[in-house]
Amino acid sequence: MPAKAPSHAGEPSDGRLQLALETYLARVNRREQPAGEWREGLWFPSSGERQACCEGIEPTAANRQALDSHCRTQGHVAVLYGVSVDDLRAVVRARRRAAKPPIARLRHRSPPEALYEMNREARNGGLEDLRAVSAEELRVLSQLPTLPGDDDLTESLEQAWGSAKRLAAAIHYSRTLETSLRYTEMVMSAATAGPFDGERVPEPRRPDVPR
Ligand SMILES: [Zn+2]
Repeated sequence: MPAKAPSHAGEPSDGRLQLALETYLARVNRREQPAGEWREGLWFPSSGERQACCEGIEPTAANRQALDSHCRTQGHVAVLYGVSVDDLRAVVRARRRAAKPPIARLRHRSPPEALYEMNREARNGGLEDLRAVSAEELRVLSQLPTLPGDDDLTESLEQAWGSAKRLAAAIHYSRTLETSLRYTEMVMSAATAGPFDGERVPEPRRPDVPR
């Protein structure tokens, strides 16, 4: 298990990315807690845990673990390990795909069922990704309605642009997988309704019943 308050500036970026991946998965699955403490009923990250991305997030009585939730996101974990959030997202996706070898598990299914199952799993993977991405990026985008007009907005707008692109990419990915799943469903139901379906038995003729 990775250290609680890591400092990995000296490590090669591949190693850091691997550590970021393990930390993110451990945190999102609640096997590991971010480093921090409760103060007066609100959770705060330790000084080693706290990063620039945490600024502006204040836990409140309504959301006591706002910072705990944030410290479990890919955005925060990427900053913590000094890796790009896009790289982290890519390895998380690859890990999820690798964790589900579909061929062995689906070999007892009929080909259409196996195809449907694979599409459904891919779609659910995309949805998981969309949830994770939107949890992070909507926080950034939610600041747009109140952007102050008298400040230098260069940095805020760059950040918002990055968030909007990542969110749009995740929506597009989900949308493609959803379309593919619905298409498979449609083809399957058209196939089972067709004239060559072996499971559909024609109405029996019952000559012995008087009319
Ligand atoms: Zn943070």
